[in-house]
Amino acid sequence: MLIGINPNLPNHFIIPRTTADLEHWRSGSYRVLRFHPTDADYAKACRHAPEAPLEIADEAALEDLLRSDLTMLVAPQNGRIVGSDEGPEGSQREPERRHARLLLEMADGTRSAYEWPPKQNEIWGSEENLAIVRGRFAAGEVVSGFIDRSVIGREVRVRTGREDRYYGNAKRLLAAVGTHLNASLVLGEDMSLHDVVACASPGWDAKWKLPLSSITANCVGKNRWLHRQIEQSDPKVLLITSRTALGLFADSALGRLSTPLSQLPEKGGGREGLFFRVATEGLWWEREVAGVLVRTRIVLAPHLSYNDNLIPHSYFTQEKWLEFQGINPDAADWLSAQVRAESNRPVVVPVVFGEGDVMVCLDSNQLWTALSERYPDAEAALRALWIDPLNLISGAIASELTRLGVGQTAGARLTRNAGPCTFCRNRWWTIGDGCDYGKPSE
Ligand SMILES: [Zn+2]
Repeated sequence: MLIGINPNLPNHFIIPRTTADLEHWRSGSYRVLRFHPTDADYAKACRHAPEAPLEIADEAALEDLLRSDLTMLVAPQNGRIVGSDEGPEGSQREPERRHARLLLEMADGTRSAYEWPPKQNEIWGSEENLAIVRGRFAAGEVVSGFIDRSVIGREVRVRTGREDRYYGNAKRLLAAVGTHLNASLVLGEDMSLHDVVACASPGWDAKWKLPLSSITANCVGKNRWLHRQIEQSDPKVLLITSRTALGLFADSALGRLSTPLSQLPEKGGGREGLFFRVATEGLWWEREVAGVLVRTRIVLAPHLSYNDNLIPHSYFTQEKWLEFQGINPDAADWLSAQVRAESNRPVVVPVVFGEGDVMVCLDSNQLWTALSERYPDAEAALRALWIDPLNLISGAIASELTRLGVGQTAGARLTRNAGPCTFCRNRWWTIGDGCDYGKPSE
């Protein structure tokens, strides 16, 4: 079971946060979710995996859905959306008020900010949604507008959308587990994904009046969405993304970590960091079920929404990188000037959420050879800090499955838990002929 904490509804982030790729920017209101008239229909469609992503076909199709009134923003001249300025940029959602701020930069260098609602005391209706049509625009083109209930019943052209990086990386991770086990595993069947939080918040932050403490109190303490799901599913391994999500287990009255959170590393990355230590030393979620102690192995991963988090790399804390630059100044300069073979991106990049830490990603034999010929000492230093996150995490999961003796079906999937499946046939619905794994007839 893969557990994340990100409740962000993708459609909520409607304003481009980087200006690097405005031409091809597609987010927020371009996303389309299929309508399911009944719970049974939804359960059937999503039985094994998330549905294939869809998006509105193009700018014209989205523009066509906008309410045609003064809320439609037409560009006075050529320009682009800029991610942020010193003000509270972006799209905000607080318990009692929603508001958004969009900053535009025109070709002549002037900037202007558009605010919704335009006045502090005006209400942004719960069924009105701000849609950004294009990140880069020409004079006279529509930049943004509102979508509301008037779109119900309208036809819209759609196309296959981009897969969520979170799911994409979960698939890669599962495939890597399969490689260790010589099995062909499938997202959804062999790995389920769960969020700790069941609310439509843009994030956990005091700036949204949604502090972590209130999320913990509601979703973990009071409602126990996830912990109840764990009891029901009895997963063999819990893969938890991020230290914050792990924290929700640490403070629960429902069980405990085998090593208290306070004794685990603060930092996620590096061979001294949380992910490496938990993968190599082990961590368990311990709880009593009907008077019996149940221990479930926990493996931790960094946030899967960021591809960089799974790239093999040498991890340097800010301090270590400064030290390395001091000892090997030429090697550090040389590394900083290189680009990766696969992505053409720099070899040396800041760590996502790493607060000054640095990853050195030598992703080809040519780069390693070039480094070892020029700077053998630097090569040794890099090799000592080397981590392959995908292999590390998938290896830890696979070794626990092997230790537990989890077998495989004829289709090279993991065998199911003992007991009947209540998903495919229950008092509310029966999907097709029932369970693909024949579980209800056990
Ligand atoms: Zn089933």
